[in-house]
Formats: sequence, C-alpha cells, structure tokens
Amino acid sequence: MKKLAGISGSPGIVIGKALVYLENAFPEIPRHTIQKDEVKSEWKRALDAFEEAVRETRAILDRARREMPKEQADIVEAHLMMLEDEDFRDKIKFRLESRLENIDWIVWDYSHELIQKLIVSSDAYLRERAADVSDVSRRVLRFLLKIKKITLSELAEDVILVVHDLLPLDVLSMRRERVKAIVMDMGSRTSHTAILAQAFGIPAVLGLSNASKEIQSGDVLVADGLNGEVLVGPGEKEIAKYRKAIENYQKKAQELLSGRDLPAETLDGYRVTLKANIEFPEEAERALGYGAEGIGLYRSEFLFLTPGQPAEEEIQYLAYGQVIRVMGGLPVTIRTIDVGGDKVNPEFTEGEKNPLLGWRAIRFCFAQPHLFKTQLRAILRASAIGKVRIMFPMVSGVEELEQALALFDEAKAECRKRKVPFDEDIEVGTMIEIPSAAMTADILAKRSDFFSIGTNDLIQYTIAVDRGNERVGYLAHPAHPAVLRFIKMTIDAAHKRKIKVAMCGELAGDVNATALLLGLGLDEFSMTAASIPRIKRIIRETEISSCRELAKKALACETRQEIVNLVVSWTAQSRP
Ligand code: PEP
Ligand code: MG
Repeated sequence: MKKLAGISGSPGIVIGKALVYLENAFPEIPRHTIQKDEVKSEWKRALDAFEEAVRETRAILDRARREMPKEQADIVEAHLMMLEDEDFRDKIKFRLESRLENIDWIVWDYSHELIQKLIVSSDAYLRERAADVSDVSRRVLRFLLKIKKITLSELAEDVILVVHDLLPLDVLSMRRERVKAIVMDMGSRTSHTAILAQAFGIPAVLGLSNASKEIQSGDVLVADGLNGEVLVGPGEKEIAKYRKAIENYQKKAQELLSGRDLPAETLDGYRVTLKANIEFPEEAERALGYGAEGIGLYRSEFLFLTPGQPAEEEIQYLAYGQVIRVMGGLPVTIRTIDVGGDKVNPEFTEGEKNPLLGWRAIRFCFAQPHLFKTQLRAILRASAIGKVRIMFPMVSGVEELEQALALFDEAKAECRKRKVPFDEDIEVGTMIEIPSAAMTADILAKRSDFFSIGTNDLIQYTIAVDRGNERVGYLAHPAHPAVLRFIKMTIDAAHKRKIKVAMCGELAGDVNATALLLGLGLDEFSMTAASIPRIKRIIRETEISSCRELAKKALACETRQEIVNLVVSWTAQSRP
C-alpha cells in the first residue's frame, strides 16, 4: 500500500477504482536506438498512426461543422491539414533515418522542439500554432503508444478520476454522476476546479504532484478529501477503517444540519450573516437546505463557459430568475462575468500569455461592452423578481469602478426606455480582491453599497502566487500578515462609511479563520453551502469579545507561523 499526500480540495471520503486520465499531459515516451533495417517498420508504424489520427480528426471535424461555432471547427480543420501535411511527415521521417531512434521518441522530440520554437516566436500567430502542434502530435502518439482514448463525457462506470490537471471546462463536460472523487497532481484549494468539485459535492484531493504517474487505472484507492490523502492499494484493515470514517463523517454532517434554522449569533449576541456561493442555478435549492441566508456570490461566468453557447439576455434572465425565485426573498448577489484566469472559454480569452494578470473579469467586460451591458440588463430585469445585489470582480481602482457604474447607468436607462421594470434601489458592491483595491478601500467605499472580499484572488495577488499551481501553493496562506492587514484595512474603511463587508473567498468557509474574521469585524460570510452548518456551529460557540482580542493579537504578529500558532492556541482554550 502507498500513501500519497496532497491537500483537501473538496471534502468527503471515497473508496473506489482509479481511472487515470492523461489527456491534458504528455504520456511518458520510451526512448531507444534502432537498427538501420528497422527504419522501414518504424516508419510504417508512424504512417499507420497518422492514418488513424486523420480518421479520428475527420470524424471530429464532421461533428464540429454541425455542432460548434465556425472558429472552433476551423481549428480542427487546421489540425487535419497538419496531419496530412507531407512536409511535416517528411521532417519526421528524415529525423528517424538520421538519428536511428524509435519512432515514438522521434515524433515526441520533433514536436517538442517545434513547440518550443513557436512559443518564443515574436509573431502571435506562430505562438498560437504551438497549441496545434501539441494537439496533433499528442494524437499521433496516442495511436503509436496504443493508449485508449477516454472520453470524460461518456464514462460508463463509477471511477475515482486521476488526472495531472483538469480545467473547469473538463469538470463541466464530464459525466459527473460517474466521477465519485477527483485525484489531481496540480491544483489548490482555491482553484476553480476545487470550487466546482465542491459545488457538485465531489470529494477531491489536489496538489499531489505525481499521483497520475504513481497510480494505474484499475488500482483500488481511498481518496480522502478531508485530510488531503490518497491510499493506493489499501489492505482490508485500512478499508474497514475508512468505511468507519465515512460513516462518522456522514453522521457528523447530519448532526450539524440540525442547527439549520438557528441564527449565526455568538454567545454574547453578535449576529452575522451566512450565505452560499453558487456556480449554477440548480445549487440554490441545496444552499437553502444548508441554511443559507442568501446567495453571497453567484459566479455568473459559468453561464458563459461552454463554447458555442452564447448566454443571451433571455437565457441569463431565466437563470437569475430561477435562483431568485428559489431563494424566496433572500438576497441574491450576482457577480458580473469573471472569465479569464483559469476560467477559460477558448472563444473569449484563448492565447493569453499571462492570464492571471491579463484580460480577465471587468477588464474583459470593458472591451466587450455589448456583452457586459446585455448581462447588466438581464440582472436589472431579474431584480424585479426579488432581492438582487450586483457586484463587480477584479476592480483595481476607482476609475474602473466608475466605468462599470457608468455602463450600469446606461443599462438602467435602456431598461427605462424599454419600460422594463427593475429595482431602482439595487445595491452595487465592489469585490476587493486586488491589493490596489484593498489599499484604496476608503475611496472605493464612497461609491459602493457594500464590499465583498475575494480572498482567493487577494491572497494570490498579494503574495504573487498562482492559486492553481501546486509547486508554489505552500506560499498561498491566508495567515500572511499582509493578507490580514488588507482584510482589516478593507473592513475599517467600509465601516467608516457605514457599509457592510462580506467575504466570498474560500477563507470565509475555513473553520480555522472564523474567530479571527469575526474579531476583524466581518459582517457576512459566503461559502460553499455544505460548509455553512460547521461555521455556524463555531460562531454559536464563540464570544465576540474574545474574537476581538484574538484579532488584535494576530494583527500584531510578524510572521504567518506566529498567527497560526496564536489561532491554534486560542482555539484550544476557547473550544476545548
Ligand atoms: C475570490 O477571488 O476569492 C473569489 C471569490 O472569486 P473567484 O474565486 O471566482 O475568483
Ligand atoms: Mg476572484
């Protein structure tokens, strides 16, 4: 038995069979020399693989021409042309003859070299071709190495999906009822893959570095999303132990739910609000089931992430309306489109060299005023159904907030002109998730009805660490003194102007942070719905006066470790 250590991406424990899916990574390529008289048979293998790849790509192209937008079908066509290109094949053949190494290695080595050359090209068109070469050579290699293609949308049996990396788009398109858990080399707790896994209630262990190499399809696994561990080939004793743990976990979750209708109030009467984050309208029901007092973050961009499905005003209006109706008068905070970063739709933001610092969220919306205003109108129309709030993501300063507000005013004027009713008093909030926004929170507060702190990005940008990259994930810790100071600064600036502060990053649902956040003065916690009962229990067992003491001491700490130690010892004393 082997034990692999990662981090918890989504809670829950699952025992099941592994399916290793390596579509997003190159397989391990064998390398050895060959004799001159083997060249012919090796080249024949290559030609057969090319033929099979051509056949498969033609079938995809036929489907793409029928079902996908033209730009995407064009990409598939370009792949087909590359596969049929005599020059491309001749170069590989020449290398085979001159280097006398196995053809799998030659194909990999040649395409790798070509990709590297293209990536550094000063010509954007050539840079984009690198992805095409990668796709085409991967396909040929798959046939050469006889790797069976697995289609996530057509999984036939229950699996624990083991992957190197998985994009949010993969999670959306896979057959989710078959995926009992996700085990991944990359990723962190705040990556959108983890957020989606939580939304769908799929346990996930992330940041495992090498799991996709160490695990074989068919291996029996225990995926422990509570402790961030994976057991490969557990014995009977371990399996029995984990069965018991699953039972306990379910019992505890059930017991926590009994407090669903109690207020989120400390022992000394300090009341806060607990809301849910959702990505899809269908989640609203579940949010209510866990006792959410509203939706604190509706990640509306997931309406826009399926290629070829433009979210027209009517479709958006229906989606927002569905959430508002289910919530029955409880406020619904709709965040405007936050595509880009790791939430890629190839139609929108493909080809970004540095996506996390690039064309994302409100920046993307300003460049697409038509798309943005369509969304603003849909939200306004939905505000006539029930209580709606709107907020803007990735605001870096007051100019951007003003630009967004001006477009919002235009959208309102358009609605008035069309005699479409909407809530004239709709509240507009600003997300604080960039250091420059936190630093200017006093200015932003003058023009905002509320703030919502997006700690996933605030931590990422404050400490300069990619939130999805497991190699630097250890740095992305919320207890960094700089993060604490930014949170404090934001809350103080807002309270000075008598506006409320919510938090909708993962930190809001982190049991280790609850007391500290209460002490810092946070008004509203918004999190994945399943975390609400646990956070409420902590709040109800805590005194605000003691939390304030804790926050004061934490703000005086100089290192992250000091803050962690402080919180741990406070917790041991207050909640033995
Ligand atoms: C955040 O950054 O904390 C946040 C809530 O937004 P997202 O995770 O969607 O970037
Ligand atoms: Mg964010």
